[in-house]
Amino acid sequence: MKITVVGTGYVGLVTGTCFAETGNQVICVDIDERKVNKLKSGEITIYEPGLEKLFQRNLKEDRLHFTTNLEEGIKEAQIIFLALPTPPGEDGSADLKYVLGVAEDMGKLLNEYKVIVNKSTVPVGTAKKVYDAIHKNYSGEYDVVSNPEFLREGVAVDDFMKPDRVVIGTSSERAKKLMSDLYAPFVRQGNPVIFMDESSAELTKYAANSFLATKISFMNEVARLCEKLGADVDMVRKGIGSDERIGRRFLFPGIGYGGSCFPKDVQALVRSSHEVDYDFKILESVMTVNEDQKLHLLPKIKNYFEGSLVGKHFALWGLAFKPNTDDIREAPSLYIIKALLGEGATISVFDPEAMNNVKQQMDSLIEYAENQYDCLDNADALIIATEWNEFRTPDFDVITSKLPGKVIFDGRNLFDVSEMETMGFHYESVGRRTVN
Ligand code: NAD
Repeated sequence: MKITVVGTGYVGLVTGTCFAETGNQVICVDIDERKVNKLKSGEITIYEPGLEKLFQRNLKEDRLHFTTNLEEGIKEAQIIFLALPTPPGEDGSADLKYVLGVAEDMGKLLNEYKVIVNKSTVPVGTAKKVYDAIHKNYSGEYDVVSNPEFLREGVAVDDFMKPDRVVIGTSSERAKKLMSDLYAPFVRQGNPVIFMDESSAELTKYAANSFLATKISFMNEVARLCEKLGADVDMVRKGIGSDERIGRRFLFPGIGYGGSCFPKDVQALVRSSHEVDYDFKILESVMTVNEDQKLHLLPKIKNYFEGSLVGKHFALWGLAFKPNTDDIREAPSLYIIKALLGEGATISVFDPEAMNNVKQQMDSLIEYAENQYDCLDNADALIIATEWNEFRTPDFDVITSKLPGKVIFDGRNLFDVSEMETMGFHYESVGRRTVN
């Protein structure tokens, strides 16, 4: 099939590459000329495990193309995916200006039946708005389908190639057939393609992300209670996770959720609810808990340093909002850095993939270390903000030699509390006892 993907970011590039991988001819369109030039010359623009190999292969096989020209992109396409940003507007609702702007432009360029598919996360009613925006300039036949994307950064290729499910919102039989054919290679093992109406598909994405965010905030509250009551959240997590109605996944407490999806999607669903006079009480609390949780380590750190961080120097491991990505959007690490700077501290940071993105934002406000151990030079304490695997079993002898005070604040519960106690660390984590 001939496929076009408009918007070549984290979702668009993975979508385009994976559709090319199953033999389709794919054109990815983006307004960012620098990005498109890089991609054209074979340079990948995001860090996503496994993507580079597929990207290079499909580029070489001439199935994957890039352009800044929307007309060139959609001329021959049978299916056009929109993978455009839907950032929060001032009131927290999803800003549809990118999606509707492209839809309007597309209306001027359509010449025959095509299926336009919304992959961006958008509020209920957007499929109709996209339809109307196209209709302003085009009165021929076309269908607008909602096909929310559930991939997770860090495992995006696997998620796309072997999705748990594919949700397709459409009332058109013609669009349904094309979408079924396109997705057939991805669901050969029997994972469901769930057809529904457009509104339900749109809401499914928000409900999924909001549910997951709720699980995180719930466990973070349990962790806070554990700290007050002297219980161990790791034990509680195992105790409840073995109940299959609850499940073991997504029960890890930490320093809050971040990224480009959970914060904005929870906020947008709350906003959508308000628009129909519904007060989504649980989600309001989920957001409040998360805001608090991002700075959960700060009072612990201040308390350890007897109230003042002026002149203290911190090493911070982990900048990305989660491991295996270079994405720092809404990353808890950034909130911690800003708070520490505000308290008069200095900071040296290390992340395996996200250093460049942070440099662009923070520039010379902080120091950038070559590796996780150099990061510790002259530090009064180590703070861990992202659970990269390479931080899980570090060389504690090197840590001890570079960090003689042996003070660690771990926002991701990477280490065993008893082992840290035996090694003589001052170790504070989330929802577990502090050892000195
Ligand atoms: P992104 O910011 O990484 O990518 C968006 C791309 O669109 C950018 O490259 C930008 O230059 C381009 N763009 C902007 N305006 C354009 C225009 N007029 N024409 C062509 N290109 C244009 O965003 P993303 O993370 O890929 O997210 C895209 C959508 O997918 C959002 O709605 C998001 O909520 C949703 N989503 C994201 C994820 C994720 O993990 N990142 C997962 C599922 C769904």
